[in-house]
Amino acid sequence: MPERPYVIDEMISAKAIAARIETLSREIAAAFADTDKLVVVGLLRGSFIFIADLVRELDMAIEVDFIEASSYGDGMQSSREVRILKDLRGAIEGRDVLVVEDIVDTGHTLNHVMRLLRSRKPARLKSIALLDKPSRREVDFSADWTGFEIPDAFVVGYGIDYAQRNRNLPHIGKVRFVDPA
Ligand code: 5GP
Repeated sequence: MPERPYVIDEMISAKAIAARIETLSREIAAAFADTDKLVVVGLLRGSFIFIADLVRELDMAIEVDFIEASSYGDGMQSSREVRILKDLRGAIEGRDVLVVEDIVDTGHTLNHVMRLLRSRKPARLKSIALLDKPSRREVDFSADWTGFEIPDAFVVGYGIDYAQRNRNLPHIGKVRFVDPA
């Protein structure tokens, strides 16, 4: 199917993201001040830039691990059935864990991942999402920290793709379809 032409309108600048991450990292460091070594878990693939920027602002001992769950595939629809495509490498029992996600939309993905990780008996388990679309929620879930609340729009950039493109945009942009005249 030929790709429908679209443009990307900037929604959140790279500067605004960096400033928000600075604030969030201070809150996270304070919340985990008594933690020996925090396990920071990135949800692949959309969080890879966010986690990279976030951990560089965290002035504390950390480990990084990744987990991958099925989500949109190559389309724009969220799948309600979440599958784990790649699990953590390390055990988290008794550890303090922070899960880093790009967007909480319907809530199914992060809710599922948090339940799974909780079943492994971490000492503490918290989550952070860069973006939150509360109007889209289908399950009763909210992340412990949120970067920005956004309206119901399809966004790309800063690690987030549309059909595997646009992840390398430095800002968050909204996809707007432009139909040929
Ligand atoms: P949820 O399970 O909360 O509905 O969806 C979470 C996942 O859907 C996110 O991790 C993200 O991969 C994807 N997603 C949600 N909203 C958007 C969006 O606006 N743009 C893109 N590219 N992916 C999104």
